[in-house]
Amino acid sequence: MSHTAELIAVGTELLLGNIANTNAQTLSQSLSALGVNVFWHTVVGDNPQRLREALDIARRRADILITTGGLGPTYDDLTKQTICEAFGKPLILHPDILEDIRTFYESALHVPMPENNTQQAELPEGCVVFDNPVGTAPGCAFESEGVHVLMLPGPPHEMETMLRRHVEPYLRKLSHEVIVSQDIMTFGMGESSVDELLHEKMAHMTNPTLATYAKPCEVRLRATAKAPTENEARAMLAPVWEMVYKTLGDIVYSGDGGDLAECCHGHLIRRNMTLATAESCTGGLVAERMTAIPGASGVYRGGVVSYWTSVKADLLHVPQDILDTYGPVSAECARAMAEGVRTLTGADLGVSVTGVAGPDPDERGVPVGVVYIGLATPEGTFCRALDLGRRRRDRIQGLSANHAFDVVRRYLQGLPVEQI
Ligand code: ATP
Ligand code: MG
Repeated sequence: MSHTAELIAVGTELLLGNIANTNAQTLSQSLSALGVNVFWHTVVGDNPQRLREALDIARRRADILITTGGLGPTYDDLTKQTICEAFGKPLILHPDILEDIRTFYESALHVPMPENNTQQAELPEGCVVFDNPVGTAPGCAFESEGVHVLMLPGPPHEMETMLRRHVEPYLRKLSHEVIVSQDIMTFGMGESSVDELLHEKMAHMTNPTLATYAKPCEVRLRATAKAPTENEARAMLAPVWEMVYKTLGDIVYSGDGGDLAECCHGHLIRRNMTLATAESCTGGLVAERMTAIPGASGVYRGGVVSYWTSVKADLLHVPQDILDTYGPVSAECARAMAEGVRTLTGADLGVSVTGVAGPDPDERGVPVGVVYIGLATPEGTFCRALDLGRRRRDRIQGLSANHAFDVVRRYLQGLPVEQI
């Protein structure tokens, strides 16, 4: 039987717009991975009557209620008391928890425990206690008439620690099924085109399911299978991967959720090759994404952010007549930048990006969104010419960086690189 959850965030700050309900986002992501349907997000202020109303509605339509916030020691922290009244549970003092809280104050915060923290050691009768190693308020869970009520603290890092340590195992035990997801990553086709190609098949799938998620510059497909064991669920995912690959072809670059930079990193290791970067309009984004990967130094030699034309000429030795005749945003310049950085660093591959990120055209009138990616290799130099249109500056930069990685990964996979 699949469960239905409602998330109730308690906090007037949320209603006033002072903070965003990030706890709901974190919890929803986790619950969907566990196969628990989340049908409602509720936000209610620090007000016992209105929280009571929210609980009365939630318990009629969901069988898992998860609250966040209001477990602290102050007068406006009323979640536990209100829930206990609603479900007819007395609050019981746990001396061992009180001792833990006292120790946390004395050894971590070096102050005596304020007396009103005592109420944090009071928990509903018969509940499962979720300890809080990064704060003071413990969370808890109990079941009443088929409804599971879970109370978690508000501060996101406390909530998330408890989620991973206690809530996910608790919810897993409620289900007799294992849910396994696989993220299939694609680059080079918009979400609507991917959807058009897969829609018929996706619409008829119930288990496993397949859904598309557009990231800013690429499309992720998530295949999810439910089965009694993990191995069975994994076996159900294999044909989905095959079907997606057959339908979309080599725009599919990974089946493990890693991004394009990680994909390039893996291929560079397998091919025992090194990479260097020469960037203009991306300002070092390709280098940043490469070096964000642990172990990048094994395959990444370094890069040049050649923003000024003089830097392209002086550091990368882009010939002056290329800069004069074709300009810095040109296929010729992209090729020369890639070759320049390859020579400069001694890397096997040099990749370059030069383009107009906007919002205005460059001095020579090259319009926003025109971008060239160069790739210098032992077999010669390639160039991909792009017209990314009038997108926002950061989108053009992100997309250009992804194209640079895509050119590298296609070369490393032995695929044609210039077109996509
Ligand atoms: P404390 O012991 O800190 O009082 P608490 O469990 O009583 O914790 P709240 O007082 O409701 O939680 O919230 C504490 C802080 O946690 C808030 O000021 C806010 O910064 C953050 N917070 C609370 N709820 C959320 C939420 N739903 N999403 C993101 N942050 C939240
Ligand atoms: Mg509080």
